[in-house]
Amino acid sequence: MDGCIFCKIVSGEIPSFKILETDKCIAILDINPANPGHTLVISKEHFDNVYSIDDDVLSDMILVAKKIARRLKERFECKGVNIIMNNEKIAGQIIPHAHIHVIPRFDDDKVIITYAKKQMAKEQFAEIAKRLSEEEHIEQKGDESTPKENIKEEWVFR
Ligand SMILES: [Zn+2]
Repeated sequence: MDGCIFCKIVSGEIPSFKILETDKCIAILDINPANPGHTLVISKEHFDNVYSIDDDVLSDMILVAKKIARRLKERFECKGVNIIMNNEKIAGQIIPHAHIHVIPRFDDDKVIITYAKKQMAKEQFAEIAKRLSEEEHIEQKGDESTPKENIKEEWVFR
């Protein structure tokens, strides 16, 4: 797409530190890294974000992200890895061309990826679950088959 920085990186018009390439995406070092080794996986074809990207391209990208994560773990001995895709400005997407961040984590690295946990009533969870599952035609199971204890803290990934 004209004027898109990532399209220019894909075409080579703008130089980058390329790590690997498939027929669908490239992985490059982020020029403004959260940590050394911070990598971006970028689709070769221009897609704005997760809503419009082709399934096979996104599938390829997440597998490349996995490969980068393993390399960061094995070669830089990071203590963990964040894999993040920001979609739309409010979610932190700065370049409107689909990409995945792979960020290695180290002790005391001062990288903060967090949010304040919100309290919600059981009815609100139920309503949200219903609305999110309706389009896929997933049967809602009764309360007996979904013990609440199993889901309470598992959403927190930090
Ligand atoms: Zn682009």
